[in-house]
Amino acid sequence: MALVFASNNAHKLEEVRRIMPEGIEVLSLRDIGFEAEIDETGTTLEENSKIKAEAVAAFIHDRLMNGDAALNGVDGVFADDTGLEIDALGGKPGVYTARWYLTNDGMSAATPLNDEIMIFKANRTKALRELKGKEDRSAQFRTVITLIRLKDGAERLQDATLQVSGIVRGRIAEEEYGNGGFGYDPVFIPEGYDKTFGELPAEIKNSISHRSRALAELVKILAKK
Ligand code: IMP
Repeated sequence: MALVFASNNAHKLEEVRRIMPEGIEVLSLRDIGFEAEIDETGTTLEENSKIKAEAVAAFIHDRLMNGDAALNGVDGVFADDTGLEIDALGGKPGVYTARWYLTNDGMSAATPLNDEIMIFKANRTKALRELKGKEDRSAQFRTVITLIRLKDGAERLQDATLQVSGIVRGRIAEEEYGNGGFGYDPVFIPEGYDKTFGELPAEIKNSISHRSRALAELVKILAKK
């Protein structure tokens, strides 16, 4: 089975490829020649996850209609939208997780950054600042995956679209620890551990993470189809 992963995030792609069982080939957007930026205009993780999967499914459809048979063997498209949800902030930043640092908190006039490493750092700094002095540091990562199943690349199967989700509970550390993973990993301590995802080996993150739990649900469903 070959599924396209509708994400430009190289970190997510690496994790997904490590987590997916043998027998499911994961193609990247680069593999299929998709270069457009997808506007995430939704107001929930569910909406944005669907927007991404739909955009890539439409691209595959167009390519096939234009006679490019290379995508014929694609069995579906799946997209991951992930949010950090902090209890003491009523579930924020949620759908705004990727660029949370740009949200004005009265302390900084943030300017948009281009560099991914700088964006991740600015977001973590924002998280630590928002929780400064707060006792309740509990939080969770939540991933929503949308799958659109295709037949011969183009045609939608009946009930082609489905969504699954995965959650890992934990807490926001007092400061950054470790430089593994990506995004907020150095400030997120998963439940049952006393180290951040930035410190824990990738194998541990990939065995308990929001993403791996959502993918496990997806694999279960695919096995039944
Ligand atoms: P999106 O799902 O592409 O909108 O990504 C949202 C943002 O969440 C990313 O830019 C990262 O900052 C963060 N993020 C997503 N997944 C993870 C993860 O596994 N660990 C840490 N941060 C993550």
